[in-house]
Parts: sequence; C-alpha cells; structure tokens
Amino acid sequence: MQDNTQIGTTAAFDAVETAVDDPSAEVLALDGVSKTYGPETAVDELTLSVRDGELLTLLGPSGCGKTTTLRMIAGLERPTTGTVSIRNEVVADETTFRKPEERNVGIVFQSYALFPHLNVEENIAFGLAEADERETDQRVSELLELVSLERHRQKMPNQLSGGQQQRVALARSLAPEPEVLLLDEPFSNLDVRLRVEMREEVREILKRAGVTAISVTHDQEEALSISDRVAIMNDGAVEQIGDPAEVFENPESRFVASFLGQASFLSGRVTDDTIETGIGTFETNRLNGPVEAYNGATVDVLVRPDDLRAIPTAESTAEGYVTQRQYNGPSFVYRVKLHSGDVVHCLHNHSESFKPGEPVEIDLTADHPLAWYPTE
Ligand code: ADP
Ligand code: MG
Repeated sequence: MQDNTQIGTTAAFDAVETAVDDPSAEVLALDGVSKTYGPETAVDELTLSVRDGELLTLLGPSGCGKTTTLRMIAGLERPTTGTVSIRNEVVADETTFRKPEERNVGIVFQSYALFPHLNVEENIAFGLAEADERETDQRVSELLELVSLERHRQKMPNQLSGGQQQRVALARSLAPEPEVLLLDEPFSNLDVRLRVEMREEVREILKRAGVTAISVTHDQEEALSISDRVAIMNDGAVEQIGDPAEVFENPESRFVASFLGQASFLSGRVTDDTIETGIGTFETNRLNGPVEAYNGATVDVLVRPDDLRAIPTAESTAEGYVTQRQYNGPSFVYRVKLHSGDVVHCLHNHSESFKPGEPVEIDLTADHPLAWYPTE
C-alpha cells in the first residue's frame, strides 16, 4: 500500500503523466516476447512497457494471446523468445527464469479462486504467512477497509455476493503488496449490471492502493472506461497502445477502429483541400492528418454513430434512406444506406423516430478530427 490517502483518479493520472521520461517509473517491460506452442504462435514479438501506478488493459478478441501474455508476466509460462523485466530486473529471457513466487506479481483469476473453507479474513491473510499475528491483523483490517468489507470479515465465500467475492479476491492478491497486479477478465463472471458497478469500484480500489495493474478483457467498453491506457491486441501482437480517447478517436488501423466500437467507413475522393463523400463535401482539415499524398484518389473516413445525424428530407435531396432501427435502451441507432453505396449508422434519442425507408440527409456533427485509411 503506497498511499491510502490518494483517493480519486486525478492524482493518479497526474503521476502517470509526469513519470513518462523517468526510467525508474517503468515497473514492467516486455521486449520482443513470443510464445509458440508447436506450430502455433500465441504471442508474437510483443513489446510493452507499464508505468508505476498505471492501469493498462490488454484488449482483443478471444484467442489473440491476452491470457498467455499475463501467464508469461506471472511466470506461469516461459517465453519462447524475448525478455520480461520487473523494475529493470530480468525475470525471464533465454538464460533466466524466475518462478512465480520469486516475482512479486499478484493475480486475480476470472473465477476468483477463493478458498471455500476459509472465511474472508483468512482468505485475505493467506498470502501473509510470514508476517506476525499482530501485523497480519492490521494488514487484513487495512485491506478490508480498502475493499469496504469490514462488516463481512467472518463470512464464508458462499455467503457473499459475486461482487463481494471479487473484492475479497482483490484484497487477497493486494495483501503481499505485489509490484504488479494481473487481472484476467475480472468481470466476466458478473451479470451486466454488477459488471458496470464493479469496474468503477475496482478501478478506484486499484488507484487507492497505488498498485500497477494489467487487466485483460475482450470488452471494449470495459477497457475504455477503466484504463489509463489500452493496448489493442490482434493475432498475438499489440496493434496500438494509447489512452482511451486517443485509441477510440484515432485508431491506427481498421481492425482497431472496428474493435473499439461501431465503425462505418465513408469512401471519399480527395481533390486538393476538399473531400467528396456520400454525405457531402468537406474540407480535408476535418481529417486527423494530411491527405495530400492521396490527392485525386479515394480514402475511407471513419465515422461512428455519434459523429452523424440523420435528417428526414424530400426524396430529391436525400443522400440515402433508413434501412433499420436498432433499439439500444437509452437511444436508437439508425442504419442508413447511402446512394453512394456506403452504409453508415447514426445515433439519435427516442424523440427522433424515423421509419425504415424514410429518405434522409446526413449531417457530420463530429467535433473531433476524423481518422481515415487508404482505400484497400
Ligand atoms: P486469449 O486470452 O486472448 O483468449 P490465449 O492467450 O488464451 O488467448 O490463447 C492464444 C492462442 O494460443 C490461442 O490460439 C490458444 O489456442 C493458444 N494456446 C494458449 N495456450 C495454449 C497451450 N497451453 N497449448 C497450445 N495452445 C495454446
Ligand atoms: Mg484469455
């Protein structure tokens, strides 16, 4: 526990910002790490650096190598090639391999893996075998307070809700003050409502504990909402790493764009300073980077539902028509087929109700520069 008084996230974000150029602030480094199983490459030359106190999330589809990466950090798996270092000390390379218990890395498993025959405080104290009784008691009380379970210390795991079990698992793995805490799909056992509640809570607990953490998920909303930085993985490699807004608004590849949320691509022809698309002609300064090199050619512009609005109009001025309405609870997403051939999605509130077949024009309402990709 480094600083229990640092509640909230602003201080933690500031600490991360100022730490960038300080090599001592690097807690974990993976350098060219690969893992192969026979002919299959699970992790492919992965390079990654995690800073002190940071919460980094590995996000990617099932089978992209997230769990294998965590297992190599923990020492449960040996890299085929590459180097893993913790606090600038090599824990795995061709010649070195430190066992999990020699790494000071904590893990919260998907299933929580609580000991069913031990109560809450015994579970939390489990990793503190060497400390004396008074110290153990004090540490357990600190952790119970951190995860707000003071009133449940005598309960058995089966007397706890899913969210409470997760908090016990978290407290147990934080107890020995790990250098790095690993969380593998930590919310996948919870129902949707609890998942949203717990991810806020877990983030706050990790920040209060000041621990450096790597979480793994295939859920983009979870990754964007809890992380300081997100690393999007595909086929065993990191495609992009950055803070949530950066990767969401400026995805460097179509894969990243599509994995982070609903993505449509507008084909546009570049002519000098303008780009002509199926929803009108815009200045190229609305794009997130220079497109001069594509003058006279077409590029694909990334548009998300919240970047666009559909406006009902006469057939003669329409740019397309509504083909589908998706009810999302708080909002509608309309699917619009453009006369240009592209398909886009537009986010609207419930008061704006259009019927399939309705002719519409589309307004580009995005207030941020738009990402684009060379046409494939
Ligand atoms: P993720 O956690 O992203 O879903 P994993 O890291 O579990 O992905 O797996 C990555 C790839 O490596 C998958 O194709 C998986 O089948 C393979 N893999 C993982 N562990 C083993 C193993 N022990 N033996 C053989 N193949 C494995
Ligand atoms: Mg996995």
